Amino acid sequence: NKFEALGLGESIIKAVNDMGFEAPSEVQEKAIPILLNEDTDIVALAQTGTGKTAAFGFPLIEKINPGSKITQGLILSPTRELCLQITNELKNYSKYIPELHTVAIYGGASITDQAKQIKRGAQIIVATPGRMQDMINRKMVNINNIGYCVLDEADEMLNMGFYEDINSILSHTPDSKNTWLFSATMPKEVSTIAKRFMQNPVEITV
Ligand code: AMP
Repeated sequence: NKFEALGLGESIIKAVNDMGFEAPSEVQEKAIPILLNEDTDIVALAQTGTGKTAAFGFPLIEKINPGSKITQGLILSPTRELCLQITNELKNYSKYIPELHTVAIYGGASITDQAKQIKRGAQIIVATPGRMQDMINRKMVNINNIGYCVLDEADEMLNMGFYEDINSILSHTPDSKNTWLFSATMPKEVSTIAKRFMQNPVEITV
């Protein structure tokens, strides 16, 4: 099995087989071994449809300790739709790890319901920047202990004016975390973020 060769564990392999994935995509082949084996920041240039969600989702799931209820991974994405899509994919990938909980945080829905879900224990949070910032201000989430932060569609998030929110959200995360940035394009604004928030990121292009 080509996914096993990348270093993924049994639970994810079973889920991947259920989904009928036959072989890793290019971005998965390039990113997964690095993210599994090296504690490093990464900048990946990849379009939607390349399988990038699994490229960061598989290693993130492997890195999470499902035995602990604290939030360990944060994924920021530009829109509610993308947020829900990523959450669904992660839930599929981790279906054989029942203690692992992924919660979606986005605007236009009840903040108290989302806070309740977080309170039950969410090792992974998938959030839009505006609602995330709001929940941090209201002390409904704690991201002081995360080990991994994924910035998905970083170019889109910046286009939508989320720089200040991202800046502020990241200031609540520990310096020790790894940041995984995925973007379809690499305008100056994205390299600025990479320089500001990341340390010697490995660069991947597909
Ligand atoms: P994404 O680029 O992450 O939005 O993924 C695009 C679609 O491809 C999603 O529906 C995934 O479930 C699917 N997908 C991801 N990786 C693979 C793979 N290795 N083989 C087949 N389909 C995949």
